[in-house]
Amino acid sequence: MKTASGVTLITNGQLLDGNGGSPVPDAAVVVRDGRIVYAGPVREAPPADPQATHIDARGGTIMPGLVEAHFHPTYFNVAALEDLDIKYPVEYVTLLAAANAKLALQCGYTAARSGGSLFNIDVWLKKAIENGVCPGPRMAASGREICGVGGLMDWNPDFRKIGMEGLVLLVNGPNEARAAVRKLVKDGVEWVKTYPTGDAAAPDTNDHHTLCMTFDEMNAVVQTAHNHGLKVTGHCRATAGIKNALRAGYDAIEHGTFMDAETLDLLLARDVPCVPALYFEYASIERGPDYGMSQRVIDGHKETLEAGAESARMVLRAGGRLGMGGDYGFAWNPHGDYARELTFFVRYVGLNPLEVIRCATRTGAEIMGRGNEFGTLEPGKLADLLVVEGDPVADIAVLEDRGRFLLVMFAGTPISEKTGVGSRIGP
Ligand SMILES: [Zn+2]
Repeated sequence: MKTASGVTLITNGQLLDGNGGSPVPDAAVVVRDGRIVYAGPVREAPPADPQATHIDARGGTIMPGLVEAHFHPTYFNVAALEDLDIKYPVEYVTLLAAANAKLALQCGYTAARSGGSLFNIDVWLKKAIENGVCPGPRMAASGREICGVGGLMDWNPDFRKIGMEGLVLLVNGPNEARAAVRKLVKDGVEWVKTYPTGDAAAPDTNDHHTLCMTFDEMNAVVQTAHNHGLKVTGHCRATAGIKNALRAGYDAIEHGTFMDAETLDLLLARDVPCVPALYFEYASIERGPDYGMSQRVIDGHKETLEAGAESARMVLRAGGRLGMGGDYGFAWNPHGDYARELTFFVRYVGLNPLEVIRCATRTGAEIMGRGNEFGTLEPGKLADLLVVEGDPVADIAVLEDRGRFLLVMFAGTPISEKTGVGSRIGP
């Protein structure tokens, strides 16, 4: 991935560095050759380089690019579980994924961690972005997901004889779990995404209290993945499923819905991050009826929303880490709405905006294992940053509105800007 050359100076805005502290008023950020060299009060900034390009933040906010911690690039207008798999041919899904990646970047998401993908598309999408073939966030890829036979993601009936060819590798027992991970190793993923539990979406056979993989299968996944340097995460709603994942050595937990005190202790013991993805639940409750969602499913989402919100508060209060990301790509929760997750965590879950922004920037980068490269605005980090009109601390929802982004900068290069970039400080 190329970084920009030259010097850029951004002034006339407050600085949110992503570490969760109070904003620095009247700040300056200096970028040289795609990396931050200064971020702090303008009065302490180094002397301005006469060749620097000057960007006026117009009294707004300078902050790190956002990290979508649970990104499904291949989901598009999903209105039923069946739409997640082979609704479209691989050719079209690949194009959709490229469009979703471009949209995410335009929405200020300069990094994204895949939560699972059809046909290994995210692995190649990541390569394409890194090679400058198409625009998109820095990515961590997951490829196809692993689920037990008969579990949440095994919905195609056997008489159709199509298995789950697109999205999921189905396993029966630890040997097949190992084989599935070995296939993903060859595919080139970084994260192995699994399904330890069911979900409110499937109340008849695999609801949110149902286990979809055994501990032995999960343990085999982790041993094999770690042997090859991959990380493991999983869709974990039921308490027993979260515990199995943590005891098996999972590196992250998706959702973490029904946590109890013992689960929280297991999570904190290894500082395992959790990505609750809660706005999806809310959107399902609010807009699901428009798409024919049954009352049973909606009731299940209400249960997982309330429990998930309480678990998220517990994790942060106890000093744990949350990532912000949210299963976007459903009909009622489309790509482009990513920052609604942040607004939801402030207004509904009751977190402080500075905490939520830290979760969506620094913690997101940490979850991707790249906290030393981006996620905060500090010297040495990549210049992945946003200049936003207004104050997200006072009103987090300004981050939902792309019209308020004065600048999205990716490794020092403006991706989109309304600031009149190009004005020189010197002659
Ligand atoms: Zn997901």
